Amino acid sequence: MNKKDLQKYEAILLDERKRFITELAQIKSEGLMASQKESSGDLSSASYHPADQGSDTMEKEKSVFLASSKGNELYEIDQALMRAKDGKFGICDSCGKEVDPARLEAMPYARYCIKCSRQAEQLVKNGNKEQ
Ligand SMILES: [Zn+2]
Repeated sequence: MNKKDLQKYEAILLDERKRFITELAQIKSEGLMASQKESSGDLSSASYHPADQGSDTMEKEKSVFLASSKGNELYEIDQALMRAKDGKFGICDSCGKEVDPARLEAMPYARYCIKCSRQAEQLVKNGNKEQ
């Protein structure tokens, strides 16, 4: 990969990273606000309506889920930026061949080429038995 392309992907990754961090901060502050409302002692809306409590719990679980999957993507972005520094960006982590530019365009933090990622998916589908 030439330097110009590398810089382009690095800029995309840094942008994505900023976006994820902003989103994560929002999810966290929304969760904080919800728990503050709960502890404010407003009994009319809290303790006497089990159905409402249920949906509150679901909302909380949803934000935890979001935080974790986003957190995982953020980790992948950081890893990709480190690979860019090491000069390994765009190289498949498994077979060492160059990752298809179209794939990097869609997912700049892709760690594997399409072939290797399909193989990995297949392994998961097969219940992760022997290779
Ligand atoms: Zn590969």
